[in-house]
Amino acid sequence: RTARLMPIKTLESFDFSFQPSLDRHRIMALVELEFIRRAEVVHFLGPPGTGKSHLATAIGVAAVKAGRSVYRCTLVDMIEALTKAEREGRLVDKLRFYARASLLIVDEIGYLPITPGGANLFFQLVNARYEKGAMILTSNRGFAEWGEIFGDPVVATALLDRLLHHAVVVQIEGASYRLRHHTDLIPEH
Ligand code: ADP
Repeated sequence: RTARLMPIKTLESFDFSFQPSLDRHRIMALVELEFIRRAEVVHFLGPPGTGKSHLATAIGVAAVKAGRSVYRCTLVDMIEALTKAEREGRLVDKLRFYARASLLIVDEIGYLPITPGGANLFFQLVNARYEKGAMILTSNRGFAEWGEIFGDPVVATALLDRLLHHAVVVQIEGASYRLRHHTDLIPEH
């Protein structure tokens, strides 16, 4: 898996001065990991390249160091794995697998549309973890667009009902760190 070859993202390597809309204290509070004990859901929202995955991973690394079990995947990869498991009659096991970690990080919600079957599987997973295990979700889209992402406003509403019940929402408004040297492409910051 290429993810394992990527440099480890930590809060020490995160430049808060690049993202002034982001309250550093809120991130520092999350790294205390109380949200894991309380089985809350943390949402990182914002445009591409604003550090959502980096922050999610950094919190995940802190949780591993604190002895917690953490699993990270993209939404599309998880749905693909659940779909395959369902086809092979192993859905219950696979749902149990994703429900097991004390922290589940689901990255990249919103980049690719999800099929109705995929949305249904994600809903089952969210139900399995609801009030039992913490999650961090990252998305480039607002909650109002979840109906469109999941292809079904009813499922999207049911998902958000659970995912916003005990939740922390961190909205990042800013420029892409990836494009930081292309000053002609990004607004001044
Ligand atoms: P997003 O998930 O919001 O699309 P990423 O977290 O993947 O963005 O960030 C893109 C790249 O830029 C990554 O390599 C990440 O480590 C780096 N990066 C983003 N924001 C910062 C920052 N404020 N300080 C240091 N590196 C950053």
